[in-house]
Amino acid sequence: MADNQFDIVILGGGSGGYACALRASQLNLSVALIERDKLGGTCLHWGCIPTKALLHAAEVADTARESATFGVDLSLNGIDLVAVNKYRDGVVNRLYKGLQGLVKSRDITYVEGTGHLTGPNTVTVDGTEYVGRHVVLATGSYARTLPGLEIGGRVMTSDHVLGLDTIPKSVIVLGGGVIGVEFASVWKSFGAEVTIIEALPRLVPAEDEACSKALERAFRKRKINFTTGVRFASVTQDEHGVVATLEDGSTFAAEIMLVAVGRGPNASGMGFEEQGIAMDRGWVLADERLRTNVPSVRAVGDIVPGLQLAHRGFQQGIFVAEDIAGLNPPPIDELGIPRVTYCEPEIGSIGLTEAQAKERFGADQVQSYEYNLGGNGKSQILATTGFVKLVRKVDGPVVGVHMVGSRIGEQIGEAQLIYNWEAYPAEVASLVHAHPTQNEALGEAHLALAGKPLHAHA
Ligand SMILES: Cc1cc2nc3c(=O)[nH]c(=O)nc-3n(C[C@H](O)[C@H](O)[C@H](O)COP(=O)(O)OP(=O)(O)OC[C@H]3O[C@@H](n4cnc5c(N)ncnc54)[C@H](O)[C@@H]3O)c2cc1C
Repeated sequence: MADNQFDIVILGGGSGGYACALRASQLNLSVALIERDKLGGTCLHWGCIPTKALLHAAEVADTARESATFGVDLSLNGIDLVAVNKYRDGVVNRLYKGLQGLVKSRDITYVEGTGHLTGPNTVTVDGTEYVGRHVVLATGSYARTLPGLEIGGRVMTSDHVLGLDTIPKSVIVLGGGVIGVEFASVWKSFGAEVTIIEALPRLVPAEDEACSKALERAFRKRKINFTTGVRFASVTQDEHGVVATLEDGSTFAAEIMLVAVGRGPNASGMGFEEQGIAMDRGWVLADERLRTNVPSVRAVGDIVPGLQLAHRGFQQGIFVAEDIAGLNPPPIDELGIPRVTYCEPEIGSIGLTEAQAKERFGADQVQSYEYNLGGNGKSQILATTGFVKLVRKVDGPVVGVHMVGSRIGEQIGEAQLIYNWEAYPAEVASLVHAHPTQNEALGEAHLALAGKPLHAHA
């Protein structure tokens, strides 16, 4: 093959793009990976990893604050955000170095620069053409705003607030979805006054309603303010702060405002439309094998409509590499992708919500059960409340698992096996869950749904 000819040319080195490159190289395909900024993309540098490091620092602060509950005499003397950021950046940098080393160690041609799709098989970077039998688009997403709402000054996106080196006294978080509630949780733990504005009737509106209610209860207890069901109208700012006005005329003042109203596809101005790639409101349309309408071009990650999660991008990248290599992998079930919201308390979920299951199978064909963490020893030890909720098809498998509680996100691993292996409650109930763990709550919920509750009332 000529120097510029590859089996796969990948545009974008984030979760979707680099996973595709790594798997393709394992399968002896030649790969060019083009990245204009930092290998690792949003997840590693501005998303999953830095925010979870902040959430861990927040947990440490809460532990100190609540230490008397456990009979330990600690006092929280303050939070040095510069030092927190140093710890956070240390985590990111170690992973970044590791990832760079991994890509280097494989036979991957890594190209630094901005690429444009200039033909169905060609990406051009600074005048050099990279030609692939296949091209994979993996250009990710950006923090969106609302029409008329300008980002700047004290009105920031998640990218900007990661650059703050002091903790604001008060924050308005516009948007009560995953990113909004995670930042709200961090700031409250760091001592800020927080108000979330959500236009839909509940926080984390994509989750099962029971999870939203539990999170709202927990946030009320933590004195995180929120308003739901009324839309944001406008914001003004001056040297002292911001004032947000809602459509019902109510106003909220704070030092800064985080706009967390979702992420849009980063897919314009790179030649996609010119090459005839089918798109819908900026998203790149792909079928279940992640093929676009142009036969040589695939798309993975946040630019493809669906869940915007790093592990979805990883899996799609791996899928595309294997499909191109002829391994014929089975399509990815979007409902089988685990979802975790990492605020305090955490939410972990997979599969259908109860409402979705009722819509799909009929209300009388769906059974649900909520196991309260009040009966779970480890959760009591951690002083957390919450539940594990199961949704099953009557006489059929579990089709949804929804969990709320401190650290409960760690339980998503078993929940995803249950959903993806279409397990019946009785099958899970026959498996032993270690005592005392929060994992036991999953076992207990299945015992109850199988008709033989142990630490729960019938
Ligand atoms: C605050 C925040 C927290 C998050 N937390 C989580 C979490 O906890 N768990 C989770 O699963 N997900 C989380 N996400 C989402 C996750 O980061 C994304 O789903 C994931 O990064 C998407 O991967 P991607 O490969 O599609 O895109 P990206 O990671 O955005 O990568 C795209 C890459 O393409 C490059 N690029 C774009 N255009 C070009 C071009 N023309 N030429 C060359 N390079 C280009 C970009 O520089 C970028 O590096 C979070 C996101 C945010 C913002």
